[in-house]
Amino acid sequence: MRASLRGDHTPVAESGACALVRVNFSMVVTDFQIAARKVVSVNPATGETLRELECASEQEVHQAVARARAAQPAWSELGTRRRMAVLKEFQRLLHERKTEVAQVIAREAGKPYVEALTTEVIVVLDAVRFLIENAFHLLKDEPLPHGNLAMKMKSGRLLREPYGVIGIISPWNYPFSIPATEALTALVAGNGVVIKPSEFTSLVVLELASLLHRAGVPQDAVQVILGDGATGAALLSSEIDKLVFTGSVSTGKHIAQAAAARLLPAVLELGGKDPMLVLEDADVDVASSAAVWGAFVNAGQTCLSVERCYVQRKLYAPFLDACVRKTRQLRVGNGMNPDTDMGPMIHERQLRIVETQVEDAKARGARVLAGGTRLPELGPNFYAPTVLADVTHDMLVMREETFGPVLPIMPFDTQDEAIRLANDSEYGLAASVWTRDRSRGEAIARRIHAGTVLVNDVVSCFGISEAPHGGFKSSGIGRTHGRFGLEEMVRIKYVDSDRLPGMKKVWWYPYGRGFARQMEGLLDMQFARRATRRLQGLLRSAGIVAGEKRS
Ligand code: NAD
Repeated sequence: MRASLRGDHTPVAESGACALVRVNFSMVVTDFQIAARKVVSVNPATGETLRELECASEQEVHQAVARARAAQPAWSELGTRRRMAVLKEFQRLLHERKTEVAQVIAREAGKPYVEALTTEVIVVLDAVRFLIENAFHLLKDEPLPHGNLAMKMKSGRLLREPYGVIGIISPWNYPFSIPATEALTALVAGNGVVIKPSEFTSLVVLELASLLHRAGVPQDAVQVILGDGATGAALLSSEIDKLVFTGSVSTGKHIAQAAAARLLPAVLELGGKDPMLVLEDADVDVASSAAVWGAFVNAGQTCLSVERCYVQRKLYAPFLDACVRKTRQLRVGNGMNPDTDMGPMIHERQLRIVETQVEDAKARGARVLAGGTRLPELGPNFYAPTVLADVTHDMLVMREETFGPVLPIMPFDTQDEAIRLANDSEYGLAASVWTRDRSRGEAIARRIHAGTVLVNDVVSCFGISEAPHGGFKSSGIGRTHGRFGLEEMVRIKYVDSDRLPGMKKVWWYPYGRGFARQMEGLLDMQFARRATRRLQGLLRSAGIVAGEKRS
C-alpha cells in the first residue's frame, strides 16, 4: 500500500509535474520493467523538486472508493451534530497550524505566504464556521405542506440523505481552499470522500487529509489518491456516487461526457474570463487598485481573476496611467519572501499560454504598457505583471482564459456597450461593476450573464462562505459553497405518508362515466375562473370530496 494513498502520512513541508518513470526490477529469470507513474512536486519559484510521489494505480483508486463506501454508513450514522463537532476540531487544528499549512501552500503553489493565509486558510476556517452554524438546520428533515385538495389526506416531508461517496478532483491554483471546502461540505452531510488533487500540488492536499484525520474523520471516510489526469479518469470510472470537479473547461467537457455516459451527477466548476466594468462615475484610484490586485493576485491564476477590463472612455487615460504606475510598483519574487507581492506561475505550459496571448495581442495592435516579458533572472516560471491597452475582442487575450498576470484594458462609450462586451464571452463565472451609484451597479448586475456579479469589489466573493460559487455558460454546472453547495452533497428524498391508511383512493380502479364527471367537477371547483362555475364543480364533485366514487 502506498503511504500517500490514504492520505495518512505527515507531509514534509516541501513539493508538480507528472513523469512516467521506468522502475527496473532484477529478477532471477529475466529483467522485468514496470511503468510506474510519479507525480513530481516542484517549487515553481525555484524549480527545486520537493518530493516525488507515486501515482495511485487504477486498482488502488477503486480500492480507495470501496473503503470509503464501507466507512461511510458509520460516519453518516454519527449524525450531523457529531460530525459538526469533528469539523470544529479540524478548525481548531487548522488555526493552530495555519503557519505551516500556508508555508506548504506557498512553496508548492508559489503564491505569497500572506496570500496563502488570506485566500486559502481563512477561506477554509470560515467555511467550517458556516457549516457549524448552518449544517444542522439545512440538513434536517423538512415538512412539505402542499395545496392539492384531492390529496389532503397525505402529508409529505423532505429528507436530505448523503450520496454515499463523493469524488473530488481539484486544481493547483487554490490547492487547499478548493478541495477543503468541498470535502468539508461533503463530510458534514455524511458522505465518504475521495480526493484526487492536482498533480502539481499533492503535498498541500496530504496536509489537509492529515488534519482531517487528526480531527477525527475516520481514515477511510476521507482519502487522497495522488496522480495525474489518468488517476482522475480512474476516479471518474470508479463507483463514486457524485463527482465535484474543479478545473479547465476542456477537462470539464471530457468529464461531463464520461459522467453522462453513466448518469453520474457532477458539479463542474470551470474556467472564467471575468470582465470588470468601470463606469464614468467610478473612483479611478480605488478601481485601478482593484484591477491591479484582481488581475495579479496569485499571478493571475485565479478563476475569478479580472481577465478583461472595460473602462468608460472619459476615464480611460487616467485609469491606464494609474494601473501602469501601480503595476510597476509590484514586487515579484519567491512567495516565501515577505516583501513579495506576486509569485511565479505554476509551470512552463501556463507561461506559454500567456506568452502566446500577449504576442497575439501585440500582433493585432495592442500596446504593452507594462511587463510583457518573462523574468528569467528570478527563476524558471516568472512572468512580469503585464498591462495591455487598446485591446479588442479579435484578440485571444479578450476571448480565451489567460490564467496569468495580464490586465487587458479596453475603452467603451455607453453603458449598453459595456454590458454587451461583458456578455460577449463563452464564459460566465463572475464579473464586477464599478460605480459610485450602488443601485445603478446592482441594476447592471442583473443584465450580466455570470454566476456572481460584484459591485465595487473583485474576487473576494470566494471568501464569503454563505455565497454560492459557480458559473453560467461554459463556466460550469452546479454550485459549491453556502446553502446551495451543501444541497449538492445530498440526495433529496420525498417521503409521502398517508394519514388514512384504511381508505382506498378514489382515483384507483374501477373508472366509469360517473367518476369522469366527478373529476370534471373537481377540476372546475379548483381552477374555474367564475365563482358560479366553481360552485357547480363543487356540487358535481361532492362524492369525491367525501371519498365516494360514482361508477
Ligand atoms: P485541469 O483541467 O488541467 O486539471 C484539473 C484537475 O483535473 C487536475 O486534478 C487534473 O489532474 C485532473 N484531470 C486532468 N485530466 C483529467 C481527466 N481526463 N479525467 C479526470 N481528471 C482529469 O485544470 P488546472 O490546470 O489544474 O486548473 C486550472 C483551471 O481550473 C482553470 O481553467 C481555472 O479557471 C479552473 N478553476 C476553476 C475554478 C472554479 O471554481 N470555477 C476554481 C479554480 C480553478
